[in-house]
Amino acid sequence: MKAVQFREAGRPPEVVEVPEPEPGPGQVLLKVTAAGVCHSDFVVMQSPAELGIGLPLTLGHEGAGTVARLGAGVTGLDVGESVAVYGPWGCGTCPECAQGKENYCRRAAALGIRPPGLGAPGAIAEYLLVDAPRHLVPLGDLDPVKTVSLTDAGLTPYHAIKGALPRLVPGSTAVVIGAGGLGHVGIQLLRALSSARVIALDVSDAKLELAKEVGAHEAVKSDDKAVARVRELTGGFGAQAVFDFVGAPPTTAIATGVASTEADVAIVGIGGGTATVGFGAIAYDASVRSPYWGSRSELVEVLDLARAGAVDVHIETYSIDEAPTAYRRLHDGEISGRAVIVP
Ligand code: NAD
Ligand code: ZN
Ligand code: ZN
Repeated sequence: MKAVQFREAGRPPEVVEVPEPEPGPGQVLLKVTAAGVCHSDFVVMQSPAELGIGLPLTLGHEGAGTVARLGAGVTGLDVGESVAVYGPWGCGTCPECAQGKENYCRRAAALGIRPPGLGAPGAIAEYLLVDAPRHLVPLGDLDPVKTVSLTDAGLTPYHAIKGALPRLVPGSTAVVIGAGGLGHVGIQLLRALSSARVIALDVSDAKLELAKEVGAHEAVKSDDKAVARVRELTGGFGAQAVFDFVGAPPTTAIATGVASTEADVAIVGIGGGTATVGFGAIAYDASVRSPYWGSRSELVEVLDLARAGAVDVHIETYSIDEAPTAYRRLHDGEISGRAVIVP
């Protein structure tokens, strides 16, 4: 089968031919219907060894497919059923996994359990092996191509936003930094889940336009005047919730700079930035956190929001052969919304 692999440090992803995987006991083989391309793949490709990731690696941690074959002992799924893949695989039994929070599994690292595309073979291929049926969510009538990115570009902002909802009362402001794959879904989730005013920041005019199109009330250029502009828009007080979907040194400084008293600041982007806290560095009683992906039940909730028509992922589609182009365009900031590979 065809797969898109990262094979060697310094080289872009390549389309290769690999054997079709066999489902072992308890596993499920999916015929991939759609797979998303995430900016985190560049973090993997920059430092695979530091992350403990062996090469070659089939990329793709946003996956959807139809059930092709069931491993021995698997029940409750029908061949041909359309499903989305919950990506942050955990052990399934530790206290966090028992709550569905496999993104925070305390044993995954020790047991060598890795998410697909981030250690285990990923979804940008014709077939994907899923380690357990509990990692599948039925899609029903949802279009897999339009919804596959909700497994990460939806789930990750959803989890970050859910933690901040108590702050997002009527009259409050939420700031979204970076209106790319995650950010343009995050804006829609904020509009669906809260009555907060949403201010989006980006360096690109095209992304600021997309931010407005998907529901941001204000769009502000992310430059050295951004903090002052957000303060002006909030009567000097700042934003009660800040979501930094870039996480680079200039944006983590903006994120803490625009935070109001008692704000919730979520640094979601993996861009090498760190946030400084302490008296004088951030408003009184503001909290900063670094959320990772989301829980199994949160993925079910995000897909229900899509079913209700509350989120519409803007996508560009590519074939497997075109996947290297999708990566190049994402790297160069040219993707509007999310790139989805359709095998
Ligand atoms: P993307 O490339 O689709 O979007 C990034 C956006 O940020 C683009 O619109 C770009 O123009 C904008 N941007 C770049 N520099 C900026 C700046 N200085 N100020 C404002 N905007 C700026 O990326 P994505 O796939 O949405 O991923 C976003 C980040 O989130 C990445 O760092 C990725 O690794 C990370 N991520 C984290 C998690 C998690 O669980 N914490 C999950 C998925 C992705
Ligand atoms: Zn991702
Ligand atoms: Zn666990």
